[in-house]
Parts: sequence; C-alpha cells; structure tokens
Amino acid sequence: MTSKLKDQALKDDIIRFCTQRGADLVGFAPVDRWDEYDEVPPQFRPGAIFPQARTVIVLGMSMPLPVMETTPSALHKELYDTTNRQLDNLAVELTRYLNRLGHASFPFTRDTYTSMRALRENNMAAFGHVPAARYAGLGTIGMNQCILTPEFGPRVRFVSVFTAAEIPADPMQPKELCIKCKLCAESCPKSAITPREDRVIGDYDKTACLEMHEELVRRRCFPCGICTKVCPIGKDRRLYKSKGARKKYQKEKETLAANPDAPEYSSWQHIRKYGIAHKPKEPLVGKK
Ligand code: SF4
Ligand code: SF4
Repeated sequence: MTSKLKDQALKDDIIRFCTQRGADLVGFAPVDRWDEYDEVPPQFRPGAIFPQARTVIVLGMSMPLPVMETTPSALHKELYDTTNRQLDNLAVELTRYLNRLGHASFPFTRDTYTSMRALRENNMAAFGHVPAARYAGLGTIGMNQCILTPEFGPRVRFVSVFTAAEIPADPMQPKELCIKCKLCAESCPKSAITPREDRVIGDYDKTACLEMHEELVRRRCFPCGICTKVCPIGKDRRLYKSKGARKKYQKEKETLAANPDAPEYSSWQHIRKYGIAHKPKEPLVGKK
C-alpha cells in the first residue's frame, strides 16, 4: 500500500471508530492551518501545546433541538452534561486507540474550566475548539461566536484530539453559513451579542454572558444556549419540522411574562417547572 493510501485508510478507520461510538461529525485539520490563518495566539495553537501534533481531529456530537428549546431547564442541563461526558470519553478513547497504533496523540476535552470563578479570573480556554472545528472543515463561525454546521447549525459540541499522524485534511467550508439574521443577538437575555456591519462574527460581551451563566449555576440549570437554540441554520430543523420558528422565539419572553401557561409554549414550560430551585420571577428567555 502506498503511504497516501495508508493515510486515507487510517482516516477511514478513525471515522468508523468515532461514528460507531456516537460522533455525529468528524473533521481533520492540519496543524499548519493555525499558522496559515494566524488568528489564534501562538501559545494556544496545537503545535505549541503538543509539538508532535501534525493533525487535529475534531469530533462533534449534536444537541437535539427540542431539548435545547426548553433552556434553561434541568433537562437541557442533563443533555449538555451527558454530551460533554460522551465527547470527553470518546476523545480519550480515540487517543488510546491511536497510541496503540503507534501514533502519539493528545486529547483536549471540551470546556476545561472548573468553576464560574475561574472564568471570572480568566475567561479564556487553553485551546479553542471553535477555530479547530472551522479549520477541520466542519463549519463557519456565526454572529453568535459559535460554529455553525450545515447539519446542526450551532447545536453541536466539540472536542479535539491532536495526533502525530499525518492524516489527509478536510477542505474548509467554502462559504459563510451565518445569514446575519440577528436572531441570536435579539434573543440574548443579556444583550451580549452585538452585530457588526463589517464582518459576520458579532462583538461578544463575555462578562454579560458570564453573568447569565452565574445565575443559571445558582439555579442548577447551567448553561444558557439561547443563542444556539434560535439559530435557523441546520438540517436538524428539517428533521424536527421546525422551520419558521422565528416568531415563536421572538415572542417567547413577552408571551410568557403575560401568561406563563400560554398554550404554544406549554411543553417547554412543563419541562422548566421541574427540577430547578429558586424559580426566576420573570422568564429567563428573550431580551431583558
Ligand atoms: S449563551 Fe445566553 S447569555 Fe450568552 S450570549 Fe448566548 S444567549 Fe447570550
Ligand atoms: S441566529 Fe442568525 S445571525 Fe445568529 S448565528 Fe444564526 S444565522 Fe447567524
């Protein structure tokens, strides 16, 4: 077998390994892309963190839309925690598998912060899965600062595995997926996203978003995710027959403030009623 065929065979094997264990998306980014695009500070690049790295394998698992629509809720929290655990397990499992095959590898699990206080002190991750997923061709960065994928919009979470194996790269997405509809910015309860005329990615007020999350941690229903719930991008909307939900999202706060039992939101409200301490006086959805 030529070395090109061997590299492709390894790639196919990794895709099989990961999809059989629950990955919805698998992408491959050469470490050179971090230097080529020069957007990420040098010490945050995979080559600086793990000098043997030649390829970053990015794994994604989707967050089912109807559960995201209940955020903030105990159910959404459980889905988020479960997805994170599954992703972390898969990253570590893939690392051990590649090591056994003779390819030195290094897992980078998802959020890698231990408390809200840690984020207050330093609101940065040691490695960003968002640029990694973009360089691995899985999506583009939307106004809400999340990766938007053709399959699930931003309703997908990621981990990365750095490996010494040289694996054929995936092409980056050829065009922006964000349509600048501004629904994420309009829906944020803390006004943390500000659209910009000169680029797709909005300005992001990390402190305002953190304040929301501190509140949700106190209520044991972290995280928020409203800006990912409302995004119209993603084929998952077709699966769940959820095209045209914009109006429902836009009217949610006002409608629920007037009538918490409004029938069009009854299934979301039912789920929100249970398992959360210290219920908020007004709905934690929509603009403040
Ligand atoms: S996660 Fe919530 S608070 Fe943070 S930017 Fe998105 S909608 Fe706003
Ligand atoms: S909600 Fe609209 S503006 Fe925001 S990321 Fe999605 S497509 Fe872009």
